[in-house]
Amino acid sequence: MSINNSSPAEEKKSLNFIEEIIENDIINNKNDGRVHTRFPPEPNGYLHIGHAKSICLNFGLAQKYNGKCNLRFDDTNPTKEEVEYVDSIKEDVQWLGFQWDDEFYASDYFQQLYDWAIQLINRNLAYIDEQTQEDISKGRTAPNKPGIESPYRNRPMEESLKLFQEMKEGKHPDGSMVLRAKIDMNSPNMHMRDPILYRILHAEHHRTGNEWCIYPMYDFAHGQSDSIEGITHSICTLEFEVHRPLYDWLCKTLEIHHPQQIEFARLNLSYTVMSKRKLLQLVQENHVWGWDDPRMPTISGIRRRGYSPESIRVFADTIGVAKRDNIIDLSLLEHCVREDLNKKALRTMAILDPVKLIINNYPEGETEELEAVNNPEDENAGKRKIKFSKEIWIERDDFMENPPKKYFRLSPGNEVRLKYAYIIKCESVVKDKNGNITEIHCTYDPDTKSGSGTQQRRVKGTIHWVSAEDYRKAEVRLFDRLFTEYDPDNAEEGKTFLDYINPDSLKTVEAIIEPKLISEEVMQSYQFERLGYFSIDKDSTDEKLVFNRTVSLRDSWKRINK
Ligand code: ATP
Ligand code: MG
Repeated sequence: MSINNSSPAEEKKSLNFIEEIIENDIINNKNDGRVHTRFPPEPNGYLHIGHAKSICLNFGLAQKYNGKCNLRFDDTNPTKEEVEYVDSIKEDVQWLGFQWDDEFYASDYFQQLYDWAIQLINRNLAYIDEQTQEDISKGRTAPNKPGIESPYRNRPMEESLKLFQEMKEGKHPDGSMVLRAKIDMNSPNMHMRDPILYRILHAEHHRTGNEWCIYPMYDFAHGQSDSIEGITHSICTLEFEVHRPLYDWLCKTLEIHHPQQIEFARLNLSYTVMSKRKLLQLVQENHVWGWDDPRMPTISGIRRRGYSPESIRVFADTIGVAKRDNIIDLSLLEHCVREDLNKKALRTMAILDPVKLIINNYPEGETEELEAVNNPEDENAGKRKIKFSKEIWIERDDFMENPPKKYFRLSPGNEVRLKYAYIIKCESVVKDKNGNITEIHCTYDPDTKSGSGTQQRRVKGTIHWVSAEDYRKAEVRLFDRLFTEYDPDNAEEGKTFLDYINPDSLKTVEAIIEPKLISEEVMQSYQFERLGYFSIDKDSTDEKLVFNRTVSLRDSWKRINK
């Protein structure tokens, strides 16, 4: 019999604050013990890693508590929304490993929302305001001052009803009037000072076409959509905390199912901007190749870069849910992908900055097949044969003519092991007229073949190589951060985030790689031994492979957090 020493109280500690709320609700049989969450993106851009956090949270809670999670498109602003975005959002959620129980659109509820608006007018809880947007804002004054009522606030409700119907019938131009709730012009919460419920927008909607020319505001659509779907826990980011009284007021006033809104801190990443508006600007102004540029923090970008969905789920789990905004270090995300790819990525040898190495005492014209391990972390990955020859390529910075102390790679008179092959010793170098090294000449010790079983001499350094008689070229894209500043959102005066774009965020090199890779499918991840993780880009052709560097092997997160 095993003994579990942890008391229930201790187990509880490991719950995050949202799980605590949910478990309490289950104990109290609130909502008949049901758990039903939703992920509610507005289809006005591609999803980013912050959304991934919200997806993992909402779908994860549904899984954990045997509940459901809907995918709902918050499509109440036809001028910014597109079908392309809807499709990309679905693809991204599924790629992350989640499947929604139901797919809904706020636009499915336009008629119901309209009916609720009529109900509020009839109950003298909403009115048509013909002030300009500017005057409406002015009337709200400031939180510590009383508001100024609109001159239209007390118009007869029949008049509001008639105008609202005319608005719907398209009889009034954009911006000429709005429907406002009549709540409290002196509330310390500005969102309660007669919030706007409906606006006129003569714009075609990607789903409802020209059926409507009035559209509900976020606050009038979101909570009621949650309510209609029977959502129990409506999880959103902190900036909506100030909207919660309005969310609650609407559910109560309309006497409809009342989900509980719970706020958590949004994910911010260092050296990254995350708002869709800014990401759209990067795309539209061609600072990047598109939404799926591997330098973008979009899910499609990091997917193309070679991140695995598992690594993102682990990342989301590791950062947990916080109640206060903070910035997560990009190196933590990189750490998560490195750990994951270490287990999965096939190994291969590649040279990013090649220099020729000649083994003087290796027989002319001879080659041999050596055995290389495809993944030391995964026995099932098997082994492959690689060709060894008199001439090979090595990495230029694996050689130093005048090395400092503790340099264990190749230098004149020094020995290193060639991975999977032999120990070699540097004898001389050949230079061009500018003094650049063009050839490194070595001798090898035939008795030191890797895996030959004989008692081997040991040397301190091992370097990788590719046969100069059996290789292929590939384009390799070395990415760096897209921004030079830790918090590009926080630009100093007179600057914007665009001023912090890293001019060196991309370096492309022509690399030398093993001639035959185990798989050449797009998205296949490799560890280029000693260099990092790289994945095959969709720009690859039959003639030329293109790789994206997902992440280098150096783990700065581990170093900082040891
Ligand atoms: P952005 O400000 O980037 O445009 P948004 O909040 O307008 O994002 P939505 O499409 O409305 O984007 O977001 C869908 C869901 O994802 C919302 O519940 C939102 O709170 C959540 N979300 C958005 N950004 C983040 C983030 N950085 N961290 C965690 N959750 C986020
Ligand atoms: Mg939004």
